[in-house]
Amino acid sequence: MKTQCQECGAEINVPDDIMVGEILTCPDCGGNFEIASKSEDKIELKPAETIGEDWGQ
Ligand SMILES: [Zn+2]
Repeated sequence: MKTQCQECGAEINVPDDIMVGEILTCPDCGGNFEIASKSEDKIELKPAETIGEDWGQ
């Protein structure tokens, strides 16, 4: 299964047995995305909160 990076649009390979809540890393831009939902043929991502981000504090 594949999905598209929200950051750079690259295709990311998704293991068939991935679970909601797991983190995917884009091989192109290194962005981290959490699996927001999963159906038979579609994966939805949301940006993962990662260490090193600017939290504005
Ligand atoms: Zn990317």
